[in-house]
Amino acid sequence: MLKDSRYVMHYAIKANANPIVLRHILAAGLGIDCVSGGEIEVACSMGFDPKTIVFSGVGKADWEIRLGLNKGIGCFNVESLPELDIINLIAAELGIKADICLRINPNVGAHTHANIVTGLSDNKFGIDMAHMFDVIESARDMTNINLIGLHFHIGSQILVMDDFIALCNRINELQDVLDTKGVSMKIINVGGGLGIDYNAPETNQIPNFKEYFEIFRKNIKLHEGQQLHFELGRAIVAQCGKLISQVLYVKDNTNKKFVILDAGMTELIRPALYGAHHKIVNISSDKPTETYDVVGPICESSDTFAVNMQLPHTQRGDIVAIMSAGAYGETMASAYNCRSLPKSYSVNDIMTN
Ligand SMILES: *Cc1c(COP(=O)(O)O)cnc(C)c1O
Repeated sequence: MLKDSRYVMHYAIKANANPIVLRHILAAGLGIDCVSGGEIEVACSMGFDPKTIVFSGVGKADWEIRLGLNKGIGCFNVESLPELDIINLIAAELGIKADICLRINPNVGAHTHANIVTGLSDNKFGIDMAHMFDVIESARDMTNINLIGLHFHIGSQILVMDDFIALCNRINELQDVLDTKGVSMKIINVGGGLGIDYNAPETNQIPNFKEYFEIFRKNIKLHEGQQLHFELGRAIVAQCGKLISQVLYVKDNTNKKFVILDAGMTELIRPALYGAHHKIVNISSDKPTETYDVVGPICESSDTFAVNMQLPHTQRGDIVAIMSAGAYGETMASAYNCRSLPKSYSVNDIMTN
């Protein structure tokens, strides 16, 4: 594989932390973007070099900071001045220097669902641009902080490439101002957020990575020796997983036909959480289509996968595949209603058994 050390990819492990997936990520030479101490532990136990781990998140607990420092992770993406103070304090206690990037809120909107926009000034994430210079000054004064870069992440499931261009432009503006102050950063981290095709997963398995990386190559002005870091999650793994479920009942109400599955929001919460659309395929039936609402068994009305969906005539016992469930599926599963967590299998394992 051709590697250029100016460009670094940290896979956002919160999208999918299954060992089957992580083994591929490790073999591909990617680092890991974590948002919790638990994720740092998982990444380390999978064999990722701590130096290739970065730690983001708006509310890092003291034990998580201590864990990151003790493991010697590559970088903390710091989201506020109070957090910076605590990292400095804990690093001093341990007698080490913490490498940090400052996560800046660039006030760049992303054309995606409101719940997964993160880069607007009203969102809880990052440091306001207005405070950025003061925080940089503070960081440079702290004895146990080593400021190495700036970090940005504007949201998720972004398909409008202009949003990434807007981010590049904003980063260029900020760098220009930093130049006038004689401040240069080793790392510019542009986060993740590239979207995938939930409507036609079979024909569009691999997102347009080329177009995405070209946007940054063309639009971002890097300084001599500066590294550009990415943190993609969804785009790498979403099409790698399907939620397989069995039809328990088909219920004919006055106005609607419901397909009731044995899987629900406890296995895949995205539709309930933000009205996300996943394609559903009935792999047991090739009969003429009918219109159904596809729902789960959980005691919540939002436990609905699809409204007025066309499916081949469906009956009890049919197996359906809910597509594109590889990102934010298993990692967001819950035990609500005292259910067991879903099990996962790799096609390769099934083929060889
Ligand atoms: C969630 C997250 C990512 C990954 O987002 P995707 O939309 O899955 O690519 C990257 N960086 C940070 C800081 C995140 O919180």
